[in-house]
Amino acid sequence: MEESATENTPKTFKCQLCGLSTPFTYYGQKPPNTRAIVLLEECFVTRDPFSPDKEKFLVLGSTCSLCGMCVCVGSDCSLFYTKRFCMQCVSKHLDQFPRQIQAELAKKSSKTAAV
Ligand SMILES: [Zn+2]
Ligand SMILES: [Zn+2]
Repeated sequence: MEESATENTPKTFKCQLCGLSTPFTYYGQKPPNTRAIVLLEECFVTRDPFSPDKEKFLVLGSTCSLCGMCVCVGSDCSLFYTKRFCMQCVSKHLDQFPRQIQAELAKKSSKTAAV
């Protein structure tokens, strides 16, 4: 209803794991001004500042479906497996994720020292 008003007052998305903080223009599953795009989850979205195309947007992050924490989409902070999970919940419930995901995470944590 008052969508134009919310666009003029940018809110800030802050990842509660890595501290990344950036303004977002929309939170939800269907970013405005995009042609029939429906996201798989409700997420924080901003217009792509580097693209002249108004339909381009970036997904910044989302809320963890278990604890509700705001997390960015960075692979160190969250994981999308049917729903969004923050890495804290992932490691807490790792045994409930499929082996493929467990293996991927194990691979990643073993090479963090290289970065
Ligand atoms: Zn993050
Ligand atoms: Zn969580």
